[in-house]
Amino acid sequence: MKAVRAKRRMAEAPAPGRPEPAPAPVLVRPATEAKPQATDLLVWYDRHRRDLPWRARPGDTADPYRVWLSEIMLQQTTIAAVRPYFAAFLQRFPTLEALAAAPSEAVMSAWAGLGYYSRARNLHACAQAVVAQHGGRFPDTEEGLRSLPGIGAYTAAAIAAIAFERPAAAVDGNVERVVSRLFRVDEPIPAAKPAIRALTQDLVPTDRPGDFAQGLMDLGSTICTPKRPACALCPWMRPCRARQAGLQESYPLKAPKREGLLRRGAAFVAVKPDGAILLRTRLPKGLLGGMAEVPTSEWRGDYDVAKAILDAPFEARWRRATGIVRHVFTHFPLELTVLVGRAEAEEAPPEGMRWTARADLSAEPLPKVMKKVLSLALGEVHQDRPKPRRAKRATGA
Ligand code: SF4
Repeated sequence: MKAVRAKRRMAEAPAPGRPEPAPAPVLVRPATEAKPQATDLLVWYDRHRRDLPWRARPGDTADPYRVWLSEIMLQQTTIAAVRPYFAAFLQRFPTLEALAAAPSEAVMSAWAGLGYYSRARNLHACAQAVVAQHGGRFPDTEEGLRSLPGIGAYTAAAIAAIAFERPAAAVDGNVERVVSRLFRVDEPIPAAKPAIRALTQDLVPTDRPGDFAQGLMDLGSTICTPKRPACALCPWMRPCRARQAGLQESYPLKAPKREGLLRRGAAFVAVKPDGAILLRTRLPKGLLGGMAEVPTSEWRGDYDVAKAILDAPFEARWRRATGIVRHVFTHFPLELTVLVGRAEAEEAPPEGMRWTARADLSAEPLPKVMKKVLSLALGEVHQDRPKPRRAKRATGA
């Protein structure tokens, strides 16, 4: 709308030499009818923008590789968690071409610990697709970006706006919160998503859409927070309808959440006398696809832990570690009982598994849940170790 108005203003500008028309009377709207303006957000952003390693400095051109990498890493993950991974990733894969040419194990290993591992697989596939199909340059439209692996509606809009200055509406959870409050959207999420998207798109300016997208992200992260938003510091305080009604924290309205059912299972940590651990690689597709893990049973709601020994990878004296590993995936919580077994030095790995030296564990793409399992089990192993005998003091006889 603003863009249309701006165009109209240009079209209506007097031709050189013609007299200026009388200025139109300024409309002062009552607070309840004031409309949020992109310029207010941009002025605020120029003063308060966060300094982030993937963000171009004012006046610099954004690097699509860094923008894309950060957007993929930031999905479901906090900025604090992403910062060290982003730096390490760039050091290991400084260019899109370097990432595309890397073996998948190296990419998974660099990603290990960030979670949501399908992102890493798609990241690698996307880098390869951009190199093979687009000559190493990202498409510069939302549509073109969406055709790439791992790039959905939000990410395509964010990259199009930030890296290519396209007037795209990048709507994530933070933006949904801001916009639903701004307009008091009285429909619960997720049904309200299309309406929120349309409202956001109406706000996007044709001038500086990348800064607008980043400003909206910053506003949602630092001012319009889920609890106790700092409305007094908000550039849209005046037009915000939820603030006018004193109902900021009530928005966005949310449909009742359906929790995933708890699943249980057993994880087997087999240890050789030299400390090597038995590992295997998960199937490439699905949950934690392509990641490393110790052998486990199935994870089911009705799993009977008392019979876990039947799922052990080989016969040994398996001892149950004290405690349970709890982990919450997007769709379900998991409880793993950990069994620790000592293997003979010459024990061959079962088919599809491998013995991994303790020193090499850090190079394995182990997801968080497996790090918790190993931490619990290896603590037990250390406690199990026989105490070193004290040397007998010589008697001098
Ligand atoms: S006024 Fe408050 S609730 Fe409204 S957008 Fe700003 S921070 Fe959010």
